[in-house]
Amino acid sequence: MSDHAYPTPSEPIRSTMLPYGQQWLDEQDIEAVVEVLKSDFITQGPAIEAFEAKVALYVGAKYAVAFTNGTAALHGACFAAGIGEGDEVITTPITFLASSNCVLYQGGTPVFADIDMDTYNISPVEIEAKITERTKAIIAVDLTGQPAEMDRISMLARDHSLVLIEDGAQSLGSEFAGRKVGAWADMTMFSFHPVKQVTTGEGGIITTSNEEYYHKLLLFRSHGMTRDSKQLLKNDGPWYYEMQALGYNYRMTDLQAALGVSQMNKLDQFVARRRDIAAIYDQKLSELPGIVIPKQHNEASSSWHLYVTRWLPEYFNGDRRDWFEALRSEGIGVHVHYIPIYQQPYYQHLGYDTGICPNAERYYASAITLPLFPKMSDQDVLDVIAAINKVYSYYLKK
Ligand SMILES: *Cc1c(COP(=O)(O)O)cnc(C)c1O
Repeated sequence: MSDHAYPTPSEPIRSTMLPYGQQWLDEQDIEAVVEVLKSDFITQGPAIEAFEAKVALYVGAKYAVAFTNGTAALHGACFAAGIGEGDEVITTPITFLASSNCVLYQGGTPVFADIDMDTYNISPVEIEAKITERTKAIIAVDLTGQPAEMDRISMLARDHSLVLIEDGAQSLGSEFAGRKVGAWADMTMFSFHPVKQVTTGEGGIITTSNEEYYHKLLLFRSHGMTRDSKQLLKNDGPWYYEMQALGYNYRMTDLQAALGVSQMNKLDQFVARRRDIAAIYDQKLSELPGIVIPKQHNEASSSWHLYVTRWLPEYFNGDRRDWFEALRSEGIGVHVHYIPIYQQPYYQHLGYDTGICPNAERYYASAITLPLFPKMSDQDVLDVIAAINKVYSYYLKK
């Protein structure tokens, strides 16, 4: 028990926990899935193609390839990029595990570059410092939905002949310098996990405008196998299929894709609501010295997957754990995104040292994510603010 434990509130702001994220499904979504259930194809039918075309069109890419989940999609991108043993791939430590695990799946070596303390995204200067002759690719992550600095990062990739993969799991609907995420990098991944901007239950996709990557992604998603007569090395007859690489079964179902199409119709509406909620948080929290609200790069237009606050330790008694547990006891489902990946036991066993990205560690020590999802009511948002005010006054150093 901490010296600064918060007394259990007799009347918490909320009696049930407000989650930090949640899907928003309606009757149209349900009907779209039911229609597929009554049709001839429940996997790899017309809904997959419709979903891929819709996402590609939305982001301004030529192609899209749907996968079982975002992690599988990132795995596919690393395969298409040709990442293998001996190759280094630069990414951020402040992200979900999948952003660097995908490099390990292919036998490559993740190299962590530190974050910018304003945006919490990977710093282009730190990327440049980590480039060696073994560097093969950069995986830029759009943390919280705010795009990484894609102008500077694409220039670095071009100048050093590196493949640029964007982990846009959190940034569907975001723009950088007026251009949608999904059209910047060689390949961009989006996730359709229920907390993300739109959902297919589980799901992921890669968008690309590179035809070679497109064909490799299609192969990888289905056992490395093709029936496309233009791709075959020989042809024994109409039954013939050919395995040209070691792939997986990473195919999304038509049930999920139909849900995806229906959800995409509401994406702009969802993003608008997320932006409204973030603006209310910005306004209310900027009145509280000691709480840092998330700064936005002047070219970034975020679709706001997450709203991360930082609580400056010098202003408060106790520590992040106390403030976090206090907010939870008020019924606010706060979270922490993320623990620096290289501090995970698995990565420590691989030989990564603590201390390699000091900004990332400083960020981790003070970050608290607030609930943010489009279905939140105005009252939900006010409850979060009320709980923060209560916890803030309790811990503020007088
Ligand atoms: C959600 C997420 C993933 C993984 O996506 P799944 O669809 O859950 O596999 C990868 N990277 C980031 C940054 C994410 O937020």
